[in-house]
Amino acid sequence: MLSIPTNQSLPRAPQLVTSLPGKKALAIVERDRTVTSPSYTRDYPLVVARGEGCMLEDVDGNVFLDMTAGIAVTATGHAHPEVVKEIQSQAARLLHMSGTDFYYEPMVELAEHLAIRAPFPHGGRVFFTNSGAESNEGAMKLARYYTKRSLIVAFLGAFHGRTYGAMSLTGSKTVQRAHFGPLVPGITHIPYGTHASLDHLEQQLFNTILPPHEVAAIIVEPIQGEGGYIVPEDGFLARIRDICNRHGILMVVDEVQSGMGRTGRLFAIEHWGVMPDIITTAKGLASGLPLGAILARPELMTWPPGSHATTFGGNPVACVAAITTLRLLDSGLMSNATQMGELLKAGLTKLHEKFPRMSRPRGIGLMVAVDLFDADGNYDIRLRDRIIQSAFLHGLLLLGCGKAAIRFCPPLVIEPDQIQTALDILAEILHLERE
Ligand code: PLP
Repeated sequence: MLSIPTNQSLPRAPQLVTSLPGKKALAIVERDRTVTSPSYTRDYPLVVARGEGCMLEDVDGNVFLDMTAGIAVTATGHAHPEVVKEIQSQAARLLHMSGTDFYYEPMVELAEHLAIRAPFPHGGRVFFTNSGAESNEGAMKLARYYTKRSLIVAFLGAFHGRTYGAMSLTGSKTVQRAHFGPLVPGITHIPYGTHASLDHLEQQLFNTILPPHEVAAIIVEPIQGEGGYIVPEDGFLARIRDICNRHGILMVVDEVQSGMGRTGRLFAIEHWGVMPDIITTAKGLASGLPLGAILARPELMTWPPGSHATTFGGNPVACVAAITTLRLLDSGLMSNATQMGELLKAGLTKLHEKFPRMSRPRGIGLMVAVDLFDADGNYDIRLRDRIIQSAFLHGLLLLGCGKAAIRFCPPLVIEPDQIQTALDILAEILHLERE
């Protein structure tokens, strides 16, 4: 049974009551402009006041359909009542006690759930973090610690986060690196998703500049996220597993965006039946509270007390939110992600047939993207950005990714009528573009 709350008070489709941005939104954007970091990337002036399921209301009372989930985070929808109830009751009991130095049950219980669910042969062990970057940072340390090797292979187009280790693993955009060097040494980036790239790794790099017996880890997103929701070629992930096996390298899978049910499985890697050594997660894990985790095969977690820790990671309130999230994923949301993803892709395919400058959709579950092209078949970033802006003005929230892609990563509670509303708005915008 699908656990979608029925007592929602916001409308199920966009409802705009002011021009955008409204007066209150504009005032907050103005205040923000003078006091927050200019490094944030706001594509449009959405100032959110509250959320329910897939709907968001801004400070002026405008209601939006959210196909972003706060960048693939609110897996169970905005403010799922069961998640909120558990958060409230945990918050009233205990807000913090640092799982690094003390024990509390929600942290142990969540670790038990994740250890059983991780696609490892014999269970897992869990280290809790506060974010995706921190998960990848820790995974990199664990891989180096366990293997006593220093080199790492990562992929062009990958996004692993903004801290020094994670930024050094990231191969996404130059703006994310420029003037921040020197970065962490020992990381080699190769093209993502193709056998040709792995041929190059094995036949060229491993014989010239990258001794495989000094490589600690290959870190890979099962579906590249910020890179454009790219699904790799068949056999790509299994071949990484094989390369790792042959050279004693650890396979680290970054499931920060693709995990927590978004693709219809708890972890996207499960679609390929490949067992990694380490999994990193965050985003959807606690439905919106900051929580991440490093899951590892038990025998890999050999680092001794004091070698890695964090004050807030595994906070009790975030842990109960995650336990509830897992329960809701199992009680229908993961299968809903599969069904709604198929519906969305079918609708986008029809739109592509009418408007060929939008590509066919790609992706799995509710991790779906389309590219936009100009009349000569080149990626058209301006068209992509215009569509995203126009969607906002129509009450539909979208995000870009990749070279010129629009991604669809709504909360997993989305229902057929809302998929249809999103498709109808997009059709209207594409129609206007064609005129
Ligand atoms: N890894 C992947 C695949 C991501 O998509 C992201 C964020 O978009 C990160 C890591 C970094 O996560 P965070 O922003 O929580 O540090």
